[in-house]
Amino acid sequence: MALIIQKFGGTSVANPEKIKAVAARVMKKAREGNSMVVVLSAMSGETNRFVDLAHQMQDHPDPREFDMLMATGEQVTIALFAMAVKAAGLDAISLLGDQVKIKTDSLHTKARIKEIDTDLIRKYHNQGKIVVVAGFQGVTEDDHITTLGRGGSDTTAVALAAALKADACEIFTDVEGVYTTDPNICNKARKIEKITYDEMLELASLGAKVLDIRSVSFAKRYKVPLHVRSTFTESEGTWVVEEDQQMESLPVSGVTYNKNEARITITKVPDTPGIASRIFSPIADAGIVVDVIIQNTHMDALTDMTFTVPSADYDQAMEIVAQIAKDINAESFSGDKDIAKVSIVGVGMRNHTGIATTMFKVLADEGINILMISTSEIKVSCVIEEKYTELAVRSLHDAFGLDQDNSKKTV
Ligand code: ADP
Ligand code: ASP
Ligand code: MG
Repeated sequence: MALIIQKFGGTSVANPEKIKAVAARVMKKAREGNSMVVVLSAMSGETNRFVDLAHQMQDHPDPREFDMLMATGEQVTIALFAMAVKAAGLDAISLLGDQVKIKTDSLHTKARIKEIDTDLIRKYHNQGKIVVVAGFQGVTEDDHITTLGRGGSDTTAVALAAALKADACEIFTDVEGVYTTDPNICNKARKIEKITYDEMLELASLGAKVLDIRSVSFAKRYKVPLHVRSTFTESEGTWVVEEDQQMESLPVSGVTYNKNEARITITKVPDTPGIASRIFSPIADAGIVVDVIIQNTHMDALTDMTFTVPSADYDQAMEIVAQIAKDINAESFSGDKDIAKVSIVGVGMRNHTGIATTMFKVLADEGINILMISTSEIKVSCVIEEKYTELAVRSLHDAFGLDQDNSKKTV
């Protein structure tokens, strides 16, 4: 008998019919004798609806109350799911994050899981119940409800898999697995059979929302093999696993894009030691993650600092920057939300040269101007004007041969 975690995203539980179908799928596994933990998202569209409602009350919704609201979507689906199971003849119980005791820190709207108590889940498994857990939520030491950030149900699933030492962690979604790029914008995208944790971390952090980045970090740290697959078909999906040698044969495994970033520039800053820290410390203290940073030095001991932040944090970042610019005597500052970051990712980049230059040439040939560049061992990212995103993604996907069947290819 195995302990299996199955997570279903918002489109998989979008209406009562879909919830019943998902329940039937889970029950099949339960009837085979497995102990099941099901993690559910809110019905698709619901979480966005809550965001909208909250903003009708406050420009910057109170984070604690925001989480209180955001956490309700999952409460609906887990209860309906448990009812569907009972109606079909098996037993189930729905549990909220605080009932399971998914303990988090107190950083509302992007809380991190610190600890999970597995006693209650085990107790209900011993009673033969399917345990249905609300994704995306937890509770602080002081009993305040928190949420883990958008897409956080994946993280709940993987953290539960690690805590329960589950035999399998399956992430069910509306596509058949992890693709070479977003199949919804590139019809030549191909399903990847196997991908390393490190590549998946890069893909997720660079915009492939098919898995939440923190779920991949958990999976890597606790060596939880993940299977990303479709809710609507039985076909094998993508395995996210540790690296093996064969995986380095391709230079590029995937292309991603992220339109949810904004660029901020502080112009003519006195170029003195400690200036970067004075600019970025207050931004970090506000919990804002700065991504690509470029510093351009002028002849006259002045420098420009350009960086990107998530669009959701843009207004707050601009407020902080206004103060910083004054404090450090910068000449001016400006921001731009109409940018996107396109990236190529692959562990094989370590062994191949010329990958970045190919990327720059592909973009140049399409007449796309590169605004910023950042690289790591296994990725190259370019910030471009947002309107060119789809064109850039499709051109790069073709240029690196990702539309071909590369599964047997070695170099
Ligand atoms: P869920 O609601 O099941 O969590 P998400 O919408 O969060 O599903 O993630 C699935 C979506 O991720 C797909 O519909 C697809 O548009 C998008 N996506 C982006 N990049 C990729 C990729 N490389 N592979 C697969 N899906 C991707
Ligand atoms: N319902 C949450 C969201 O839409 C969490 C999730 O679906 O993973 O972001
Ligand atoms: Mg998701």
